[in-house]
Amino acid sequence: MAGVLVFCEVKDGKMKKASREALTVGRKLAEKAGGELSAFVAGGSAASAAAESGRYGAKKLYAAASSALDAYTTESHVAALQQAIEQARPSVVLFGGTSNGRDLAPRIAARLNVGVASDVDRLEWVDGKLRARRPVYSGKAFATVDVTSTPAMATVRPNAFPAEEAEGAAAEVVNVNYQAGETKTKLVDTRIPEAGELSIAEADIIVSGGRGLKEAANFSYIRDLAHAIGGAVGASRATVDAGWIDHQHQVGQTGRVVSPNLYIAAGVSGAIQHLAGMSTSKHIVAINKDPEAPIFRIADLGVVGDLFQVVPALIEEVKKAKAH
Ligand SMILES: Cc1cc2nc3c(=O)[nH]c(=O)nc-3n(C[C@H](O)[C@H](O)[C@H](O)COP(=O)(O)OP(=O)(O)OC[C@H]3O[C@@H](n4cnc5c(N)ncnc54)[C@H](O)[C@@H]3O)c2cc1C
Repeated sequence: MAGVLVFCEVKDGKMKKASREALTVGRKLAEKAGGELSAFVAGGSAASAAAESGRYGAKKLYAAASSALDAYTTESHVAALQQAIEQARPSVVLFGGTSNGRDLAPRIAARLNVGVASDVDRLEWVDGKLRARRPVYSGKAFATVDVTSTPAMATVRPNAFPAEEAEGAAAEVVNVNYQAGETKTKLVDTRIPEAGELSIAEADIIVSGGRGLKEAANFSYIRDLAHAIGGAVGASRATVDAGWIDHQHQVGQTGRVVSPNLYIAAGVSGAIQHLAGMSTSKHIVAINKDPEAPIFRIADLGVVGDLFQVVPALIEEVKKAKAH
């Protein structure tokens, strides 16, 4: 194969976890197929991205520098990535499954008239083709697809692959010949909600609350537990629809698909649409007073009890454990 190019995103001077995961799976794919791993970044500092992508095994960093790329817009990033692909000529292009990655992948794939497998949790190079596995029907089944066009594209499900450093030297920086052109859209404002809250998209631990919380104020139980164990706050749709918490916290079919190492669900029944967003979590703990609640069918650890007693007791235990 000719190589793997990974679309990387840098936030606050650091490469996003989803990009580091995509680099890791890209490196393994390239190693097995006899190709080279490269990274692509748009805007920002090429030097620090070269060092970081190099640590994950990238030999080259295709860097597009322009003030037009400092903030994400689909049009400008598609144009810059297309130019990078023309220069790098990879066999495979990977994207972390972030909002931007999931926005960009189908646009660039359509522009180049190639296939893209979205939300994949397994990748192989088989008989000169990219073979990807992706959950379908709200996570009830898996589809294995071959992407037969070149370059083959895929968005990588966050947390499905661990980010592992390879101790490589800084990647060689290759400037992308990107010229900012006329665009039909421009970014006019960015609003960052609830400063200080971890995003469920990137979190290793998520504590989610459901209608069992009874009212908005009781999300404090979920927040306190999440803060105690360094996790993000998730929510069922019922609580979002009730206006108890913002939609950015919603896990599920019409919310975010997450796959953290630890997912704690308190007062969540486990409707199929909720499970669609979290059933691939590594460890699932459910707290529910109804022993028949469907969430227990996929939980690794189930606590049948009143969350208003169980959650504070859990926080106490965490505090004790931390004190030692
Ligand atoms: C097209 C479509 C898309 C959808 N997308 C999503 C989605 O993305 N995400 C999502 O979550 N849902 C989604 N839903 C809604 C989904 O079907 C459920 O209605 C929703 O997930 C239920 O939320 P819940 O578990 O918080 O509430 P409920 O189903 O009402 O469950 C509340 C649970 O709390 C337990 N409980 C009550 N009191 C306590 C207590 N004191 N201690 C412990 N446990 C307690 C109860 O036993 C119960 O199991 C979607 C539905 C449709 C039709």
